[in-house]
Amino acid sequence: MNIILLGPPGAGKGTQARFLTDERGMVQLSTGDMLRAAKDSGSEMGKIVADVMARGDLVTDEIVIGLIREQLETVKANGFVFDGFPRTLAQADALSALLEEQGQTLDAVIELEVNDDVLVDRIVGRAAEAAAAGQPVRADDNAESLKVRLMEYYKKTSPLIGYYYAKGQLSGVDGLGEMADVKAAIAKVLDV
Ligand code: AMP
Repeated sequence: MNIILLGPPGAGKGTQARFLTDERGMVQLSTGDMLRAAKDSGSEMGKIVADVMARGDLVTDEIVIGLIREQLETVKANGFVFDGFPRTLAQADALSALLEEQGQTLDAVIELEVNDDVLVDRIVGRAAEAAAAGQPVRADDNAESLKVRLMEYYKKTSPLIGYYYAKGQLSGVDGLGEMADVKAAIAKVLDV
């Protein structure tokens, strides 16, 4: 089973993706994690994306589609959880084509529904928690980048909600509850 977790920054996509990998043996494909790894490795691509990411803008479709293509061609999995991808209509179309090439299907798109005030608190809280624990704070977890990330989400990613609704693949889940409740709501969608 292949699924997409859709939602604005801070909606809890990464947390829920990790539950799905731990409990269902699915493989999480987070383009954000892949891009951060490229940045940390100091590769050419990493250098190109570092500033874009720190500002909160989206990196090009070409780069992220290339990353996902590579994973789909090389990793054998019981199912993929797409986390933070697709973020544009072009990426969504590319994903359908890639899955079709691999003889795979997209089985569900789960939108984590949250309100914007909560997002700001969560992201600022995530940065403060990491700092207090002596962990690295994401370069884009600050109020200024968050504004850009939210705007990018509403301009470029939120149209995917209508796109997948029209395809009959969208399920909405209340993302505001406790992690365990959100997890249970996702399980309910997947285990029908
Ligand atoms: P995330 O960890 O998903 O919040 O992603 C962190 C940053 O990586 C985003 O703000 C973008 O700059 C970049 N990024 C991650 N995934 C994508 C994507 N699918 N398309 C474009 N940019 C992306």
